[in-house]
Amino acid sequence: MLKTVAIVGRPNVGKSALFNRLAGKTISIVHDQAGVTRDRIVAQCRRGPAWFEIMDTGGIGASTDDVLTDQVQTEASIALDVADLLLFVVDVVDGITTIDQSLARELRRTNKPVILVCNKADSPKRKLNAGEFARFGFADTVEVSAAHGLGIDDLVSLISTRLDLKETTETEEAIARQNSRPLKLAIVGRPNAGKSSLVNAILGQDRAIVSDVAGTTRDALDIKATYNGKHYQLIDTAGIRRRSNLDTVVEISSVDRSLQSIKRADLCLLVIDCAAGAKMQDRKIAQIILEERKPCILVMNKWDLFHPDAKQKDRIEHLDEIMRREFFFLNYAPLVAISAKNKDHIGKLFVQIEKVRNGAQNRISTGALNRLLANAIENTPGALGRSTHSFKLLYATQVNEAEGFAIPVPHFVLFANRASKLTESYMRYLEKVIRDEWDAPGVPFKMSVRGKG
Ligand code: GDP
Repeated sequence: MLKTVAIVGRPNVGKSALFNRLAGKTISIVHDQAGVTRDRIVAQCRRGPAWFEIMDTGGIGASTDDVLTDQVQTEASIALDVADLLLFVVDVVDGITTIDQSLARELRRTNKPVILVCNKADSPKRKLNAGEFARFGFADTVEVSAAHGLGIDDLVSLISTRLDLKETTETEEAIARQNSRPLKLAIVGRPNAGKSSLVNAILGQDRAIVSDVAGTTRDALDIKATYNGKHYQLIDTAGIRRRSNLDTVVEISSVDRSLQSIKRADLCLLVIDCAAGAKMQDRKIAQIILEERKPCILVMNKWDLFHPDAKQKDRIEHLDEIMRREFFFLNYAPLVAISAKNKDHIGKLFVQIEKVRNGAQNRISTGALNRLLANAIENTPGALGRSTHSFKLLYATQVNEAEGFAIPVPHFVLFANRASKLTESYMRYLEKVIRDEWDAPGVPFKMSVRGKG
């Protein structure tokens, strides 16, 4: 995965100019209505031998107050959460301001590496002004002029050192390409679960840039959306969006329709009204997702209505316990609680979506897989017994399936002698062994055994 560097700083210190310098091209920034923070945008920096991703965090410090407001705080926390390193941009002409001071405190609290970038240092005299910022106590400081392109190479090499970057390899390039493809999301669930509200919440986010794509059939409508600089395609939203005038024919074929969406999707968002609890139809759709072997996130909607008076921690544990039981067969799917109506935790949902996309790129090497399974079998022979007539693993390997989809779904193939001795329950045990090792939330996998006897 490419590492992420977030550019933070109060307005007008030159974050966008620096962003464009690092990106090596001008990227237009989408402004929302006044008072609302700008889009956060992401690009790759390929100036050095090692690439990384840069993220512009327009909103941080944008408040006119000295204290960071709640909204800015939320915006910022997502960026600070995902970044591996922070560039704290200040303006040597203006000197230290109170917003700079509160930002400096904020950034230190993240415990992430910070590079202090003193911008607008276009002349020797201005460079001297940078000294003032030393009292923030950040060990790494560079003076740059984003507007004139001075000091940028020093900054890039400092970033590479701090992130301990190795030269970008072919696989990383491939992953970077993969990530720029839109991820097809199917939003499925029973009527009234909150699918339309979720689509609207996504489209209504400050960070979403949206365009409709004519679908393949008259009925299907795909919407392209960019969120946090990553591309998505919400598929088959026609039924979802037109719902208000569809009430008489209320989703006659909601399960059928889901099947079509699920088949086309890279990732399914199964929306469940968690306050109402899981119903037959939810389980049916979940079953289809499982049968189609699709990556999935269980979206617990109407979180605001789920035992609102209980303590937050108890609520989460309670929800988790109930839903894990209801959807035990979909145990690979992570759970995210949101409130589509209140637009709560949509950012969190996208963080999880990206975790699924990225985790799927992890591959267990053939060597590691063979050692892992051999150890598991050796230590827990169970029903396999240790007799000479028992199952014997010869070799295991991972093949990626789901050709043409953005998220590869692995198939672990075991070659064995006396394959028929392998019971269903032992197979499940081995699946669990793999699952524990293979860090790819939300992604299902298949396991099969080939061999004589
Ligand atoms: P769909 O049939 O799955 O598209 O469901 P809708 O999006 O039309 O939502 C059904 C009803 O649930 C509407 O009245 C929404 O306002 C409401 N609703 C959706 N999400 C939430 C939520 O997170 N909290 C609450 N309290 N109500 C919600």
